[in-house]
Amino acid sequence: MSDLNKTNAAIEALPPLAAMVRALDMRARKSLGQNFLFDLNLTRRIARSAGTLTGTTIEVGPGPGGLTRALLLDGAETVVAIEKDFRAGIVLDPLLAAADGRLELIEGDALKTPLWDIGTAPRRIIANLPYNIATSLLIQWLEHASTFESMTLMFQREVAERITAVPGDSAFGRLSILTGWLADADILFDIPPEAFVPPPKIISSVVQIRPLPEPRFPCDQKALETVTRLAFGQRRKMLRASLKSLGGASMLENAGIDPQSRPQDLDIAAFCRLAQALDS
Ligand code: SAM
Repeated sequence: MSDLNKTNAAIEALPPLAAMVRALDMRARKSLGQNFLFDLNLTRRIARSAGTLTGTTIEVGPGPGGLTRALLLDGAETVVAIEKDFRAGIVLDPLLAAADGRLELIEGDALKTPLWDIGTAPRRIIANLPYNIATSLLIQWLEHASTFESMTLMFQREVAERITAVPGDSAFGRLSILTGWLADADILFDIPPEAFVPPPKIISSVVQIRPLPEPRFPCDQKALETVTRLAFGQRRKMLRASLKSLGGASMLENAGIDPQSRPQDLDIAAFCRLAQALDS
């Protein structure tokens, strides 16, 4: 039997996740955005959708390890999992032993962990994200987009739509621009509330983000973050009003944009021109 087959046999021999969570009384905590997936068919579907798992696979919030098991079973070379809830370490212990060195657990806060420095390329992030911090995490990772081969992430459906929206879509906004500037992004499939324990009130979607080698248009990322935050903070207002603190009408004219336009009238290239005008 190959080493991988031996590890897989050891993982498949572990007790079912739901039973382990029950035995260790790891009740889900709302404050940590905990909605667990126990169905291995589903977690394997998510793992497979991320493609070949060579290099370093980074999982944020493994919780009791449903997705982690799937990543290992699907041949991930190395999984580095970052978890804030110290109780997960106890539930994950048998998986760490079965994984035979292919799984590393970092007990800490993903918001304070530079994922872009973990392991070796190719790096990818795969996660059923805690929804309360999902967009903050995404914006942070986008600042280092080129260090990741892909991100396969679960969000609330409504957030997934905002991430993947294109100009003209009603969901088009700050997240669409920050993502679309740096990456291709698609919704792969939805997951219904009843797949989770406990079930959330919303439908979830798995989104795949594939960073481009270079941003689509030249501009400074922080300037783009500032311009899009102000523009979409008051999305019904004309840009000359919402961007007043940055120079208002004259700044817009310098960037070749009608000061009376509203943020949803502009595409990513126009927002990059605004960011350049701010930066110069
Ligand atoms: N991956 C597991 C699954 O699919 O069943 C759990 C997913 S649950 C939606 C989100 C996980 O992220 C929880 O295990 C939670 O404890 C963890 N988490 C929440 N905030 C975190 C943070 N700041 N850093 C790292 N992990 C965090």
